[in-house]
Amino acid sequence: MKLLIVLLAVLAGVWLWRRGRRLSDQRPAGRRTPGQALPMVGCARCGVHLPGQDAVRGSQGSYCTVAHRREAEGA
Ligand SMILES: [Zn+2]
Repeated sequence: MKLLIVLLAVLAGVWLWRRGRRLSDQRPAGRRTPGQALPMVGCARCGVHLPGQDAVRGSQGSYCTVAHRREAEGA
């Protein structure tokens, strides 16, 4: 009975170790916080700030919407 408990303890330890290693493998190497990952840009028409990847690119700058790009650039 004592041997069984030791065996279970060892199996639990191995399981926890493997689970912890798998979780740490999934974590990206460089920890990035959302604020640092997304550079903010200002709309050249109304000045609203938004994440760069959501901004509408225009020839004279970045805009929050296509409508503002059209208003500012007339295109
Ligand atoms: Zn705007």
